[in-house]
Amino acid sequence: MMVTKPEARAVDLPEALWSAAVRTLENARSATLVCHVAPDGDALGSMLALARVLRSRGTEVTCTWGDETWSVPTSYRWLPDIDTVVAPSQVARRPDVMVVLDTASKDRLGVLGDVADAARELVVIDHHAHNSGLSGVQLIDPAAAATAVLVEELLRRLTPSLDTDTATLLYVGLVTDTGSFQHPVTTPAVHAVAGRLLADGADPSAISRQLWGTRSFGFNTVLGAALSRLRLEEKAAAGQGWVWTWTTREDLASAGLALDEIEPVIDVVRATREADVAAVFKQDGDGSFRVSTRSRGATDVGAVCAALGGGGHKLAAGFTSYDDVNVTAERLRAQLAVAPAP
Ligand code: 5GP
Ligand code: MN
Repeated sequence: MMVTKPEARAVDLPEALWSAAVRTLENARSATLVCHVAPDGDALGSMLALARVLRSRGTEVTCTWGDETWSVPTSYRWLPDIDTVVAPSQVARRPDVMVVLDTASKDRLGVLGDVADAARELVVIDHHAHNSGLSGVQLIDPAAAATAVLVEELLRRLTPSLDTDTATLLYVGLVTDTGSFQHPVTTPAVHAVAGRLLADGADPSAISRQLWGTRSFGFNTVLGAALSRLRLEEKAAAGQGWVWTWTTREDLASAGLALDEIEPVIDVVRATREADVAAVFKQDGDGSFRVSTRSRGATDVGAVCAALGGGGHKLAAGFTSYDDVNVTAERLRAQLAVAPAP
């Protein structure tokens, strides 16, 4: 006899939580939507998709994030509705309804952490494992491949159909966080979500071209500088191997790039066969380093980065370092030596 496996869901949360979130959002006359600082495709796509549907229902929506030096990431200026976002100084200090997306940690809200505390009603939509310090309705599933997957599930309860721009925004979140369906989070249910979004009008080839098929000359020169400094430490990470490099603010200045535009450098570095762990230290304008880490499967870099003041997922995480390159490397090397398996 054939045994059919029950179909795995892309998100698994109690129905009462969805109803609570739907009730809050349906009753909201206005809502402030906030994603994490230095937003990526999942943070922006999830936020703008939810904003679009809420606006279509008549809610007055403000979208922002709390970077101290705030600007719209250059690599995402093509997103639908990106022109609707505002600087964090523009949001109500005591919003009636606030929705936090793609983080559940107050420190990832930057200058807006206090606004989250002051909000009358709070809904948190996230898929990170390391959470701290936010209350409210918690739509949090660390097993979800992207925040966009949670937002899709929520939107299906708020509206009978998604328009092309909403589907595009959610698809951007899904493909960025699954690394184009390459990461282990990619399940049949994830492909089912993608299928629904394509049916609603998302164009996968146009979106991929925007996200990965188009790079500036300047990006390639910074990639070259990063690769020229590449270090391989085969004994590091408890013998699993560690490959790392860094970029400087001078690299960015001479290429005319913003920090967000060199996100893809880690994708080249992480392919190194000899190392389970990859890291890129990206120097910001203030001299600090944004550190991106990735594991090929044997190291919980989320735990490593949490120990260094950051966080993320088991196989993709980050932290900020205020030390120089060598000290940053030393601190990371020491944590990698004692890192747990995922
Ligand atoms: P990325 O290297 O792409 O910037 O980040 C990888 C993952 O780690 C993302 O899910 C991102 O949200 C998370 N992450 C990066 N930096 C930090 C940080 O400083 N704190 C926390 N909590 N998460 C981070
Ligand atoms: Mn995400």
